[in-house]
Amino acid sequence: MSRVSITPRDSVPVASATSPGSITIEGIAASPGIVVGPALVIGNLNASYVRRTVSDGHADQEYLRFLDAIVRSKKTLTDLSERVTHGANLEHRGILDAYVVMCGDPMLAQKVAYYINDELRCAEWAVASAGEDIANLFGPAAGADEYLAERRHDVAFVCDRILRELMGEPSTLVQNLSRDTVVVAHDLSPADTASMSREPVIGIVTEIGSRTSHTAIMARALAVPAVLGASHVLHTVKNGDLIIVDGLRGLVVVNPTPIELEDAQDRARRHAIHEKRLRQRSDEPCKSKCGMALITLRANLELPAEATIARERGAIGVGLYRTEFLFVDRETTPTEDEQFETFKEVIHVLAPHVITLRTFDLGGDKLVASLPVPHEMNPALGLRAIRLALTRPDVLSTQLRAMARASAFGPIRIMIPMVTTVQEFRDVRALLDTAISDVRGRGLACADNIPLGMMIEVPASALLADIFAREAAFFSLGTNDLVQYTLAIDRTNETLAAQATPFHPAILRMIRTVQAAADAEKIPVSICGAMASDPMAALLLVGLGLRELSMESTSIGDIKETLSRFDLDTMKRVARETLNCESSEAVEALLAQTYAVDLFDVLAGEAIDLDGLFDAQ
Ligand code: PEP
Ligand code: MG
Repeated sequence: MSRVSITPRDSVPVASATSPGSITIEGIAASPGIVVGPALVIGNLNASYVRRTVSDGHADQEYLRFLDAIVRSKKTLTDLSERVTHGANLEHRGILDAYVVMCGDPMLAQKVAYYINDELRCAEWAVASAGEDIANLFGPAAGADEYLAERRHDVAFVCDRILRELMGEPSTLVQNLSRDTVVVAHDLSPADTASMSREPVIGIVTEIGSRTSHTAIMARALAVPAVLGASHVLHTVKNGDLIIVDGLRGLVVVNPTPIELEDAQDRARRHAIHEKRLRQRSDEPCKSKCGMALITLRANLELPAEATIARERGAIGVGLYRTEFLFVDRETTPTEDEQFETFKEVIHVLAPHVITLRTFDLGGDKLVASLPVPHEMNPALGLRAIRLALTRPDVLSTQLRAMARASAFGPIRIMIPMVTTVQEFRDVRALLDTAISDVRGRGLACADNIPLGMMIEVPASALLADIFAREAAFFSLGTNDLVQYTLAIDRTNETLAAQATPFHPAILRMIRTVQAAADAEKIPVSICGAMASDPMAALLLVGLGLRELSMESTSIGDIKETLSRFDLDTMKRVARETLNCESSEAVEALLAQTYAVDLFDVLAGEAIDLDGLFDAQ
């Protein structure tokens, strides 16, 4: 989403861009913080093996080398998987286990045998060639299909692992580091990110990836500053180069000048002070300066391990648990027991606060092998979210039973994504009632009342909010999609990203309509789209009447601080004025004019005074 443009973060010039001796590379700010450290460059092994041919008489011996490398690769991956027993890394265990199976893939063995026996290539060359052949079965390397790209990535990863064994390279890329290190790579595999939590990795830079990619999620879960999507960084950085990773501005500075270094260290200290101050207030309630508005700040979760971070940051429960992440990186849909255990774990960490479990939102740009969707011309307008779920009542019912069982362990709410028709809501209601009876029929406990609510993320449901409000127990505004569907801009389109703004007056008017409909039926309404984590937008939302905001845990401190600096009257007045603006630019200008000066530090992510500069280190 776009932030209001007049912010210190946007306006600070990149001093190093023209400084001699250093190189600045722009990427995506994927995990906040600023660190300076020596680079560990993880190159692509495929490029470095020697292409040898073997004599006819040595082909058998070469094939035995390959088989031996397979045995060792499986052992390495199994050992790694067994060490993954807790926290955020648990997500990776299934992936590592899948890689063990892939090592024994008969197609790989057949192709390697062909290259060794018929073309007399050495084992390394045969593995790399076989890997390329198999990866090509998933389409061209530059293909846009996310699912196929991930499968190519899996094949490349497994072949890389086998090559590593053949060449006597270390078993994981990141291991036994003796000092603080910034890892620089084209991309990181789940095995590498899993091993990082045990190593002194202080920063991450990759050439590809986005804010929602696996690596970004892990970096934030581990609180490691990260810049992803830093194109061609591997051409620029050498092992041991000193680099600055600026996860606030999305910049990487290679071999910084002394002035840049000093500036980065100063900003890192200021960021630490800023974070420390926010954390000190994590137990305080969120309210406006005048005390007239009390706001509930909840967390958005993708991984169960994020629940602990949410609690530390002062989240009052979960406003959005994206359960579709339980379906990612696996071949089969998760079982009722698996899902139940995960929900129970999150409830346990955040009780007594409510956990809002969203039924799986797959399709669109979230394609997974465990629940394939037929090819569509416009997936965002196709079989997505609740539409897809209702075509698979077996899978949806399994999830609803898991949720119903979890309700016995703490307060939960269930939320349906992308509802467009009243019938969809009623269909889910019926499936939930059956799921609850099934669970009770098995003698298992279930809460007496499980509120069933819905997301408002298509204009149809926003405009029919008064009718939906008679059936739904609560609303949650999904502004990421509401913007996409209202402004007709694909949310993944980089070129139009600046125009896909929630500050468009049409979006603000819809929010007001939804709020009024919810108020009339006395049902709660919250927001869980990324808009809630933007300081200026949060002020606007509270001014429009919202009192529940849900966001990634790392933004909770900033939003609490922001709202505590202004009176409710100001927020209401400005919000009223924005409804009459003719464009998003006018809305942003009004917000910046009213609030920016008093929010300089929050918008920059840095303390602007020097108090506490030394004790924050
Ligand atoms: C939204 O659309 O705003 C939302 C929170 O859902 P998601 O980002 O998961 O589509
Ligand atoms: Mg959505």
